[in-house]
Amino acid sequence: SSPDPVFPRWGILLNTGYLKTVFLPSLLNQYAGSESIGWIVRDESGDPLVMKQETLTAGLVMQTSFHDRFPPWILEFHEEDPSLLKALFFSRRSIYVYIFFLIGFVLIFGLSLTYRTVHQEMELTRIKTDFVTAVSHDFKNPLTSIRQLSEMLKAGRVPTEEKRRQYYHAIVEQSDRLKFMVSNIVDYARMEKGTRALNFEMINPGPLVRRVAAEARNRFLNTDFTIQAKISTRLPFIRGDAAALQQALNNLIDNAVKFSDDKQRVDVKAVWRNGEIVISVQDWGIGIDAGDQEKIFRDFYRVKSPGTRKIKGSGLGLTLVRQIAHAHHGRIQVQSEPGKGSTFTLILPCDKKSPMKEKG
Ligand code: ADP
Repeated sequence: SSPDPVFPRWGILLNTGYLKTVFLPSLLNQYAGSESIGWIVRDESGDPLVMKQETLTAGLVMQTSFHDRFPPWILEFHEEDPSLLKALFFSRRSIYVYIFFLIGFVLIFGLSLTYRTVHQEMELTRIKTDFVTAVSHDFKNPLTSIRQLSEMLKAGRVPTEEKRRQYYHAIVEQSDRLKFMVSNIVDYARMEKGTRALNFEMINPGPLVRRVAAEARNRFLNTDFTIQAKISTRLPFIRGDAAALQQALNNLIDNAVKFSDDKQRVDVKAVWRNGEIVISVQDWGIGIDAGDQEKIFRDFYRVKSPGTRKIKGSGLGLTLVRQIAHAHHGRIQVQSEPGKGSTFTLILPCDKKSPMKEKG
């Protein structure tokens, strides 16, 4: 009998012990070596055969069985509570996340820049409109009274010499007022551009302050205002431009009168303190909120309270005072309490070598 034909047989003999203890752990650790990923190989009844040492049992992410030819085991991957940010930042997708955030940041930055520019433009337009309204309103009153008074004089409708003198006086007063307002605007612009030529000379501050107070008293003669001047007798000279200093003081006194409400009293003082000349203008009027006290020296700034709104102004007076103070190496300060009044203080350096005794 012929021997049975021998068919060659071949196969793979799996050494499950090796597979379990060496092969799978090294393979799995290689591909799922991240700290947050754990793995377990279970037999068909679900008992663990081998697992990553510190396998985390929470958060089963994937479960799969081995290929047919392998033992009927189950392979499980576990992951520590996968935190979104960690996953985003440490995965390959992180570059997209960074780009996303970058674009977002650029967009937000661009938007806020646009918003700021538009806001500033709108604010500027508002300031311009307010300024034009305020200035034209300010100019209209003196112009109207000059026109009416001069027309009456021209038509010979003023019967007595006394009345005529009163009218002439009023015309001069009103045109002075106009001149003062125009000078404020023109000089502010010149100071801003740096083209105002100041004429510095040695000035005796006492008589200057006294003169300004007297002129103001004259200006408000028809009102019940009391403008008092208290000037120390011993004041040293200052180096300054008399016209500019007068203009600064006039602005302070003008404001004190404008914002006085019914407390019709203004005190002007000049003393020598800590080697400086300190000139203050005090009123007992509406006062200024703490939040506005620093802002009022800015260009065109006017307090937005009902008390201020009814009084017209350009918002340049205090800016000019600040510019003049700085041009004299001095400074301007304010102390104020709403409803109680304000004190504006102009502090100027003095010529220490020339203390002088003032007469009268
Ligand atoms: P203007 O008087 O033309 O409004 P200023 O620059 O002189 O402009 O003043 C700015 C603002 O400061 C005023 O609008 C007002 O709100 C406030 N202010 C100035 N002086 C006084 C004062 N003596 N009392 C109360 N508020 C004042």
